[in-house]
Amino acid sequence: MSSEPLLLTPGPLTTSSSVKQAMLHDYGSRDEKFILLSEQVCQSLLQLVNADSTYQCVPLQGSGTFAVEAMLASLIPANGKLLNLVNGAYGKRINEICNYLNRETVVLEFAENMPIDTGAVADILSSDPTISHVSLVYCETTSGIINPVKEIAQIVREHDKQLLLDAMSAFGALPIDVEEMPCTAIAASSNKCLQGVPGVGFVIVEEQALSNSEANSHSLSLDLYAQWQGLQKNGQWRFTPPVQVLLGLQQALQELTDEGGPTARLQRYQENASILVNGMCELGFTPYLAEDVQAPIIITFLMPTAEQFVFSDFYHKLQQHGYVIYPGKLTEVNSFRIGCIGHLTPTQMQKFIDVVSEVLTEMDVSFS
Ligand SMILES: *Cc1c(COP(=O)(O)O)cnc(C)c1O
Repeated sequence: MSSEPLLLTPGPLTTSSSVKQAMLHDYGSRDEKFILLSEQVCQSLLQLVNADSTYQCVPLQGSGTFAVEAMLASLIPANGKLLNLVNGAYGKRINEICNYLNRETVVLEFAENMPIDTGAVADILSSDPTISHVSLVYCETTSGIINPVKEIAQIVREHDKQLLLDAMSAFGALPIDVEEMPCTAIAASSNKCLQGVPGVGFVIVEEQALSNSEANSHSLSLDLYAQWQGLQKNGQWRFTPPVQVLLGLQQALQELTDEGGPTARLQRYQENASILVNGMCELGFTPYLAEDVQAPIIITFLMPTAEQFVFSDFYHKLQQHGYVIYPGKLTEVNSFRIGCIGHLTPTQMQKFIDVVSEVLTEMDVSFS
């Protein structure tokens, strides 16, 4: 397993060998052990965001987008109206989903290097009383920018609207406390900061909103209400559950606790990020975002203009050394991205910087 590359990407990520080991079992979907496992995982996820019994956790087969789509489809009624706050590709994906769902959507969009402006959100909510829901991406993984979730959550609650949060690349590391950050629903997945393997998403949702959501969804498999009802009835998932993914997630949640919880995990990611940013800057690279809006999740670097720097060569050489980075998908600037999350230590990050330095020498690149 040591020959596997380190994934410095936005997910899937490098997982620990103990998480992979934990998956080496076969459980039937009606097996009591599995039913208990999925209950325990859901309880742990609720505890992580300080959710009391007024919230439910509904797990769903699939990647993170399945959970986001289920959240939007199930919680926004056909006559609802969504204010979607956008500053990157995942916000735009919410627009795309709402087009499929035929939900009326108002979009407030900012540049990819600008956090969502809280004043503009308040203004739009004051001027358009027909808006029923607001959607927001906590950390826009497109650039790695962090949005002012706490402030926006409070504004949304003051206007008596419902906040639907995509916390995919935040959950398990960046602070989420539903007492301080009132949300109607939070969608996330197993394989980002929780450091599980991909294959399950989940939505943490206020029970009141969930109870009111019967028959909203256009889709059988993405119906959160039906999934919840199924689980309530007998603890079973409606369709084949990703048993091994849940086993891996249970182990990953234990490792999160052992590490010291989200605060300690965030601290490790912060160390990873600062080694990465400082090291890359010393080598002549420039981060895209201002420091104060950068989350320690994934860092976007501007594509160097030096002639000898050919990104595909850089990428493949790093891969040969055992590191996988990620091309950028920004609409405005040419860039690439390097992730700081996953089962990855500051020592490994330092090693990576040394390898980048070697690769630049091999490529005969100099930025001066
Ligand atoms: C990863 C991610 C998603 C979901 O992506 P999948 O590829 O479907 O797992 C959604 N939103 C954000 C902010 C993400 O980082």
